[in-house]
Amino acid sequence: MAIKYIEIKATKIERMIKSEDFKCFKKHIETVIGIKNDIYEIVIENVAYDESGLPNEEVNARVTFKNNYSKVDKIVFFRDSLGKNINRKFGRISHNNDIFNKIADIYIKNALVHELVHIKQFENGKLTIETIMDEKKLHYTDRTLEIEAENRARKIISSYGNFEEEIMKYISSKNCFTNDSMCKIEEIYLDKKTSK
Ligand SMILES: [Zn+2]
Repeated sequence: MAIKYIEIKATKIERMIKSEDFKCFKKHIETVIGIKNDIYEIVIENVAYDESGLPNEEVNARVTFKNNYSKVDKIVFFRDSLGKNINRKFGRISHNNDIFNKIADIYIKNALVHELVHIKQFENGKLTIETIMDEKKLHYTDRTLEIEAENRARKIISSYGNFEEEIMKYISSKNCFTNDSMCKIEEIYLDKKTSK
């Protein structure tokens, strides 16, 4: 049987980020993490550029600071990269629209929580211009601030249920989403629906 892959579009990602549901989720997580500074913008761009000016599609979102790291500026979501990364990892299940949309929702929310943890790190003095410079010398997977953001986001998102917990196993690792994973995910998803 041929499986038809349906790609999630960047415009859809943008709509999800601008939705009321997403705003409510953001407010809720700010309380959970204990963020004081809620005066920062949410901005949507296509793709991130690294310091050498090259596009970097691995970056899904990024928090920026202003006045030499004295203030949070904004959280930027990169809609084209988010779309590509979701399709690349989960395209196999895109024939099931409900599940694919739910996965995209989890993926984007995880990216948000990750950035909110960075804002919290900034507020409690862990993230400064100095610590950022030190971390940049290390490989991404060895950066303490990144490890904390990844772990905290995974825990928070996973706490929403078995389905979320299972999806996070793929988002926060290099694990490939195989046919077996797809069967398991479908089972958990249906279970979740019937147990409501
Ligand atoms: Zn990060």
